[in-house]
Amino acid sequence: ELTLDAAYFGRWLSAAAELFERDAARLTALDAAAGDGDHGANMVRGFGAVREAAAQNAPGTPGELFSLAGTTLTNSVGGASGPLFGTALRRTGKRLGAAEAVTLPEFAAALRAGAEAVGKLGGAVPGDSTLLDALLPALDALDARGSSAEGALDAPGSAGDALGVREITDALSAASAAALAGAEGTGAMQARKGRASYLGERSIGHEDAGAHSVVLLFDALVLAAD
Ligand code: ADP
Ligand code: MG
Ligand code: MG
Repeated sequence: ELTLDAAYFGRWLSAAAELFERDAARLTALDAAAGDGDHGANMVRGFGAVREAAAQNAPGTPGELFSLAGTTLTNSVGGASGPLFGTALRRTGKRLGAAEAVTLPEFAAALRAGAEAVGKLGGAVPGDSTLLDALLPALDALDARGSSAEGALDAPGSAGDALGVREITDALSAASAAALAGAEGTGAMQARKGRASYLGERSIGHEDAGAHSVVLLFDALVLAAD
């Protein structure tokens, strides 16, 4: 069994920081093709700062951890991605509230609130070739898994309200795969927000860097479950 508590999300932050370090050059190359080529460095700096803040403050609940991570990202990254991912995480934390641990459907609903806050802040809608084009399909995948798993748990003889580690890992892996498909799908889109939109139609053919960062964030959720 896996508990989605502050310890789990602490492992997630560390795994995310490592994945951004590993893939910084790839993210930067994607951003260089359509933007200004700093996205990898931005995410490495941001999640490095988040990892440090979490180590110093030892947040005791998932809500506190996400709030701290969001504020730290917003304050440590100069690029658009800092306030955008930062707002997503902070709003997720607010929605998670003061619970010591959350269920997967609760986590998915909080992430959904985070995604909505990004849309409000940046004005992007699906199809604009932004991080939302990976995040929203990932959340749809999570919802689909979460509700079917809940249904299974409502069945006679079900053990209780906690999902098994295998069900959680499967759901998060499905979300990661959906995020990747979404990120790859941005290659066919014209960018309508952010620096890539300056290219107009010439942005078509370039996959969005921030969307690929979303994939890494879901990969880190899978890694943290192990
Ligand atoms: P900057 O563009 O300031 O250099 P980054 O390169 O770190 O910042 O981040 C760029 C990413 O931010 C894009 O790939 C895109 O995913 C995301 N992004 C930019 N503007 C918006 C927006 N208005 N709404 C949603 N996402 C956006
Ligand atoms: Mg950039
Ligand atoms: Mg920049």
